[in-house]
Amino acid sequence: MREMLPPEYLDLETKELERRIRAAKDALGKRVLILGHHYQKDEVIRFADYRGDSLKLSQLAAREREAEYIVFCGVHFMAETADILTTAEQKVLLPDLAAGCSMADMADIEAVEACWDILRGKYPDQEIIPITYVNSTAEIKAFCGRKGGMTCTSSNARSVFDKAMGENQIILFLPDEHLGRNTGLECGIKAEEIFLWQREMRETYEQSGEERDGLRDEQSEQRERLPEHAPRLILWNGFCSVHQRFTVEQVERARANYPEIKVIVHPECRHEVVAASDLHGSTEFIINTVTNAPAESSWAVGTEINLVHRLAQENPDKKIICLNETVCLCTSMNRIHQPHLLWTLENLAQGKVVNQISVPADIAAEAKLALERMT
Ligand code: SF4
Repeated sequence: MREMLPPEYLDLETKELERRIRAAKDALGKRVLILGHHYQKDEVIRFADYRGDSLKLSQLAAREREAEYIVFCGVHFMAETADILTTAEQKVLLPDLAAGCSMADMADIEAVEACWDILRGKYPDQEIIPITYVNSTAEIKAFCGRKGGMTCTSSNARSVFDKAMGENQIILFLPDEHLGRNTGLECGIKAEEIFLWQREMRETYEQSGEERDGLRDEQSEQRERLPEHAPRLILWNGFCSVHQRFTVEQVERARANYPEIKVIVHPECRHEVVAASDLHGSTEFIINTVTNAPAESSWAVGTEINLVHRLAQENPDKKIICLNETVCLCTSMNRIHQPHLLWTLENLAQGKVVNQISVPADIAAEAKLALERMT
């Protein structure tokens, strides 16, 4: 159950918040581990014991057996993954349970199960392998585990696809169509072999009583035409509300304003943006590439703004700008701020666990299977 932040925490001055966060953290010592996702704001990340992407943070938490409490400053699916990978004795807390991920929420289990049944009926002679990006709910990871599939990250998506691709196989990729398309094309799947599952169309047909599914041939002019040839890759049409906003025009503008600039973007961006960039890769890839680049080099970065600002602060010898300064904040992740962190820690110091994320054991076991299969 979501416990709400008491309003008095919102009235505290920054100095007081920071003093009390340090005091609560010191009082808890090694019993607490604070994890900070790269996209968190600085005011929170400065208290993190580790910062990183969601899977790396969860794996680090699983190694820190002394830590009874894992405070995950990220979003809901990340805390779920940490709970799946840590021991039964460790408790995972999300300081604000409203910190969700719109992309993960776009694939709910009932809709995915219904899609699966339709695809099984439509392609009875092919093996369908579900692969989900780790940015998905525990239930979707469990679905993939149950159906012989696996998870992937933005770093290893290509090798996971290579593992799953065969003569008679169809990959069903959840929930991010852009990472799926970018990876499929890189792996040599042709555009005409990629279909899109349109969850909204399926719902519309269902409501109107029409007997049609939500499948669309990527190359078809008519969005609703039922494709006749079998696909090799079916994409669920979810997306990241942060990365989908980057455009080719922004890439062109950055190049026009700064002729020396290199453009680097995340593979959750649309394919045309990835194709227009110089480099693309996971958050860790972006950080490592820019950090290790020569002094005086210039970079336009297509990812979340908190990370881009931090990269710029930590690399003052380079010019680093965000491709789009105005609309690329992950607002749900940014729900977690210092008052939430303080309230969570002070409760723990008093022996009270608030906003715990606990994945049911059967779901966790199947989800873990999917996570293990990707390695
Ligand atoms: S950046 Fe995108 S994928 Fe990541 S948590 Fe935010 S909405 Fe979800």
